[in-house]
Amino acid sequence: MLKTSSEIVLVTGGAGYIGSQCCKLLAAHGYRPVTYDDMSSGRPEFVRYGPKIEGDILDGISLDSALREYSPKVIFHIAALTEAEGSTSEPTLYYDINTCGTLALIEKCKEYGVEQFIFSSTASVYGHPSDELVTNSTPVDPVNPFGWSKLMAEKILYDCAADAGLGVTIFRYFNVSGADPDIELGMPFENQTHLIPRLIEAAEKGTAFSIFGNDYDTHDGTCLRDYIHVWDIAAAHIAAINSPVPRGRVRKFNLGLGQSNSVLEVLDSVERITGLKINFHVKSRRNGDVAKLVSGDSKELTNALGWKAQFTEIDDLIRHVWNWYCIES
Ligand code: UDP
Repeated sequence: MLKTSSEIVLVTGGAGYIGSQCCKLLAAHGYRPVTYDDMSSGRPEFVRYGPKIEGDILDGISLDSALREYSPKVIFHIAALTEAEGSTSEPTLYYDINTCGTLALIEKCKEYGVEQFIFSSTASVYGHPSDELVTNSTPVDPVNPFGWSKLMAEKILYDCAADAGLGVTIFRYFNVSGADPDIELGMPFENQTHLIPRLIEAAEKGTAFSIFGNDYDTHDGTCLRDYIHVWDIAAAHIAAINSPVPRGRVRKFNLGLGQSNSVLEVLDSVERITGLKINFHVKSRRNGDVAKLVSGDSKELTNALGWKAQFTEIDDLIRHVWNWYCIES
């Protein structure tokens, strides 16, 4: 049965790693996810929970037809370029897609009466954070075009929410990992730059793994990150639409667990879960890496949205990625 438009959610980037998990949870909660994706990195087989429109975020005609056809009241704006290091070599592309793309979408939201806008931002807006644990009041100071492109999009949302009649929720993601617990969805493994999929692949293939620096000011010298399960990210998005923010207002949350793991601790977990040894060596620091990026506790998020992470153990994240790798390879 066709759902009413209030139950339709347009998900930009719905064919990707995070977007597809959001679509799956939306469908499980009775919403009708409509994927809007240019399929540059999305996977057709991930679009299984609702219709798909193939289109670019900067393509006004394609956006018009999607919004006219489905009249969504809610948009999850997830489509973006997300590689910190890559953004330094292609800054114009990052500003174009992440910043101008968000502006283009906001203009369309105003035209088509969208009410709730849930925006995927990043903890990269904090750069080298001045606080041990990052909170909403930690000063922002991105260190690469990726972080800046998202921060500028946030600023545009603050400035335009009232005029566009949008209730805006901004989520600053910490390190998203894990894979669908049912092993239907997950991250790609080709051309990966991220720690967990790289470790899994190195464990299984027996290839050498590089740790980028062990001379940081942390308990074991390797960088600390706040790893959050992709399923919990999707659950936070559902919580945001179940507790909508008044139109014209903006709220923002750090989406992390408030706990950290070092590179060596993640490596240990991968060895434990896979039962395989990793052949690793230490290389010099990677450009742009910060020693520690960890959120404060998630009480604010829990109080506002009733969200609580379900997967709080690093072993759970690794197990799900390992299961997904075994299906994929
Ligand atoms: N890392 C590493 N080797 C790799 C990939 C990542 O040592 O092959 C480290 C990286 O230097 C950082 C941490 O793992 O300290 C997390 O990196 P990732 O790219 O997963 O996320 P980031 O925090 O950079 O967005």
